[in-house]
Amino acid sequence: MEPVVHQIWPRVWQRLHRPLALLRKNHSGCTHHSSFAPSPSPHLSRPRSLPLVSRLYQPSNLRDVGPDSRLQGEQTCKSQRLMQQAGLVYPSNPGCYYYLPATVRAMEKLVRVIDEEMQGIGGQKLDMPSLCSADLWKTSDRWELMGKELFRLKDRHGSDYCLGPTHEEAVTTLVAHQTTLSHRQLPLLLYQITRKFRDEPKPKFGLLRGREFYMKDMYSFDMSEEAAYQTYESVCEAYTRLFTRLGLRCVQVQADTGNIGGTLSHEFQLPADIGEDRLLVCGSCSFSANVETLPLDQTNCPKCKTGSLAQSKGIEVGHTFYLGKKYSQMFNAAFSNTQNKATITEMGCYGLGVTRILAAAIEVLSTDDEIHWPDLLAPYQVCVLPPKKGSKADEASNIAEDMAYSLGETLPSLKGEVVMDDRTHMTIGKRLKDAKRLGYPFVIVVGQGALEEQPKFEVICQKSGETMFLSKDGLLDLLQIVETV
Ligand code: ATP
Ligand code: MG
Repeated sequence: MEPVVHQIWPRVWQRLHRPLALLRKNHSGCTHHSSFAPSPSPHLSRPRSLPLVSRLYQPSNLRDVGPDSRLQGEQTCKSQRLMQQAGLVYPSNPGCYYYLPATVRAMEKLVRVIDEEMQGIGGQKLDMPSLCSADLWKTSDRWELMGKELFRLKDRHGSDYCLGPTHEEAVTTLVAHQTTLSHRQLPLLLYQITRKFRDEPKPKFGLLRGREFYMKDMYSFDMSEEAAYQTYESVCEAYTRLFTRLGLRCVQVQADTGNIGGTLSHEFQLPADIGEDRLLVCGSCSFSANVETLPLDQTNCPKCKTGSLAQSKGIEVGHTFYLGKKYSQMFNAAFSNTQNKATITEMGCYGLGVTRILAAAIEVLSTDDEIHWPDLLAPYQVCVLPPKKGSKADEASNIAEDMAYSLGETLPSLKGEVVMDDRTHMTIGKRLKDAKRLGYPFVIVVGQGALEEQPKFEVICQKSGETMFLSKDGLLDLLQIVETV
């Protein structure tokens, strides 16, 4: 027995005789390994910790979506049902949700991918106040134009404010206040990822249409129209890269500029039946548009002239606008040009619905009862299932535990990405069903096979639907391709 186990996972054979009770539980729900030799300075060496399913705050027994007073008759959809049933979100009042820990993990990953793409094209991240003074909004006239969509409030001095639904006014004022902006600093791309507030007439579909949601909003400042178009292009390309990295099929469609204004605009749409936007897509060329931008009776492609336009529905996950001088003129956002002359900047603005992307991805990728995440965004990549307590394979539980610890050490991309379903009073079958429902890309079942002379582990790959029986090396080979952010 000893040598075989020793070959499998380096520390296991020493620990086979150690009872599980030696693992101390800490307050954050993780186990700490008591080391064999006491560490000379416990403050310097961090204990190894492992997320345990029994301790994760992912309450799946919260009230189901149904007649629910907090939703006040909101329409629901697949992603919302799956997210609530899996303990990912919980409604607080119409259009507002608790984002529970697994969702926050997924969202932090999404934010990292967005950061990489935005910073890859020169974006600089900032954070603007959500409490926006009415004065700014009155200057742009949008205090009136936005109507009931603005959440308005007064401070103790009676001054008017709104909770920011978008930040064109705020960012343009900021840049206008910089008296020394030089042409050498352009293009200037500033973005933030923050909560936005919109008093939507009909919040619905969970995170897809909330009244409080996360958006990435970027604003660009350029020295000429031509330069601004180049910036616009580079943002569209970054959006396309982002959706490709997430494994989401996204179409860039010609769009209306709405009350933001400007002259050129595109939406990034995920085709989906519950999508609220109607799109027309040419069968012969790359043309696609939101129906709002074309005459009602248009059936032929206005670009290639020969193709016919097919209708589909989409969820708008991103929107880009070329604004020209609309806001920069209003707020006097100027730079000094090569002749040292103050010149008004050319602007663009670019939104991505961060929480909407998460829900839309679940909507388009999942089956009716299993969540499928974009690979990069799964809250955890691997779930290890130790054998049921008291079963024939019980002896393999230490192997499972050691594997769960070692995977993140052996494969750096899996650091912090492995959970262990320690609910060993439950059958493997039940836990496996749960794991599939929650959408771990890889589930490893450590059972009888792990105790054989040539140990084998059952690995279920959610994406391909395959179940494989792999040796330790085979398992490492498979998992080393997992990309994380
Ligand atoms: P919609 O047409 O869906 O109401 P919008 O055109 O008003 O959206 P934008 O102002 O373009 O939205 O905002 C940028 C992005 O923010 C959108 O592309 C979308 O992904 C996201 N978004 C907008 N409204 C919401 C909302 N109520 N809930 C969640 N995400 C939203
Ligand atoms: Mg839009």
